[in-house]
Amino acid sequence: MRVAIIGAGISGLSAAYRLNQLDSEIEITIFDRRDRVGGVLNTVERDGYEIELSADNFISTLPWGIKLCEELGIADRLVQTNSLYRRTYVVRKGNLHLLPDGFLMMAPTKLYPMVVTPILSPFGKLRAGLELFMPARRDNTDESMSEFVRRRFGREVFERLVEPLVSGVYAADMDKLSVLATLPRFREMERDHGSLIWAMQKQLAANRSAKLAEQSGARYSLFVTLRGGLLSICNAIVSKLRADSIKLGNAVESASLRNDGKWLLRTETATTQENLASSETSGNKQVYDAVIFACSSYEAANLLSGVLPEISLSLSKIEHEGTAIVTFAFDSEQIKQPITGMGFVVPKVENSMILAGSFSSLKYPHRAPEGKQLIRIFAGGARNPSSAEMGDSELVPILFSELKRIIRIEGEPLFNVVAHWARTMPQYYVGHRELVKNIEQLSSNQPSFAMAGNAFHGIGIPNCIRSGFDAAEKIYRSR
Ligand SMILES: Cc1cc2nc3c(=O)[nH]c(=O)nc-3n(C[C@H](O)[C@H](O)[C@H](O)COP(=O)(O)OP(=O)(O)OC[C@H]3O[C@@H](n4cnc5c(N)ncnc54)[C@H](O)[C@@H]3O)c2cc1C
Repeated sequence: MRVAIIGAGISGLSAAYRLNQLDSEIEITIFDRRDRVGGVLNTVERDGYEIELSADNFISTLPWGIKLCEELGIADRLVQTNSLYRRTYVVRKGNLHLLPDGFLMMAPTKLYPMVVTPILSPFGKLRAGLELFMPARRDNTDESMSEFVRRRFGREVFERLVEPLVSGVYAADMDKLSVLATLPRFREMERDHGSLIWAMQKQLAANRSAKLAEQSGARYSLFVTLRGGLLSICNAIVSKLRADSIKLGNAVESASLRNDGKWLLRTETATTQENLASSETSGNKQVYDAVIFACSSYEAANLLSGVLPEISLSLSKIEHEGTAIVTFAFDSEQIKQPITGMGFVVPKVENSMILAGSFSSLKYPHRAPEGKQLIRIFAGGARNPSSAEMGDSELVPILFSELKRIIRIEGEPLFNVVAHWARTMPQYYVGHRELVKNIEQLSSNQPSFAMAGNAFHGIGIPNCIRSGFDAAEKIYRSR
């Protein structure tokens, strides 16, 4: 059996890994238009610093990331967040304030820190407390994140806490972002318990007694990264595959499904590896028994438009936003205020280009040499799409001056590293779950076709790994 995988990001590589595990006789070919594996994942080493150009850690409470590292034999390189800095700041009127202790993405688990936080006004706190008495919505209809949080906790909790926390992950427009596709757990809490505050209290009590019964805490911190960078997950997968199975600098330009159920792919190879847009390319046509589309959903939509038009149309409805990451390096002495958190988020109402910042090397100390610090700034998304495309010479000074308004920094950075990620963040708008259900229903009639990636059931690395595994299993079952 010959299987082609389009995209050598974490989703496509996970699909290849699982397929190879299921049957090592399957001939796998992975195509990527870039001249390296990893897709958006990329780690660079510079002067003893380890710099992540996109994702910088992943959540440990979803099993697929940790489990894959264990299977690949790289779990000993997993690094936990520094326990001294496990708090997050929120910017208010240009200053850093610690997020109320126990506030988890959308709701408080502890009441006293909410009462004393300077982030909310007395009225905002009172309105948040009324959440306990708000009528519960128990149906299954979707709504935007903004509608949901305003309905339960009021405007201030939305604008000052939830909007920046969620934007810092999804880079999305909160008036369009679907609560059911992104944080369904909170709607389930409302449905089952009537109030999120009440549900969180109950869950906390249950967790405490479970912990007491087990006499053990969690094995990993909520987020983990890898010494050597997240790209090492991709490299570890590559080392398990046949060397000739990965075709880099190879863009799949067209796909067609023949009457016998086999796929014909036409690829373009860049002779220079540098720029596939250049004229120096040569074409190649090959037949495959099955294809896994692990590229962005809009790339898949283009390739499928003449083959599976209904699937293509649904895929084309998933919009994407671009982001930019700028990492600044400093001498520790240049940072003139004590920092006790691992990062900060900036509410939209602060009118900043910065979505969020991370004290990368406080969070994971191995990332910078002794006496040095890395601060990583996340910009763009639906809030500020232009910054993802802005030239470095314009973007970097703006972000640095905004950073200096939030944190007292003396002098200029030692260096900076910029990464632009145009159209890389799929936006899970209201109705996303129905859209994905429809795509999956249509795909189930196509045994030689599967999709993987971040556009369907979660954008985080563990979800992407799972999507690759599911795609591989579908193709394996259909042999
Ligand atoms: C700035 C940023 C920060 C992030 N931070 C985090 C984080 O901290 N934690 C976390 O868990 N997740 C994070 N994410 C999300 C996560 O990194 C991504 O969702 C995930 O890496 C996407 O992997 P993928 O394989 O699905 O897609 P991609 O990495 O986009 O890979 C798709 C590949 O397909 C290739 N391709 C496309 N079309 C073709 C074609 N026609 N022919 C051949 N090849 C093609 C592309 O070149 C690309 O390499 C972040 C994402 C970004 C952009």
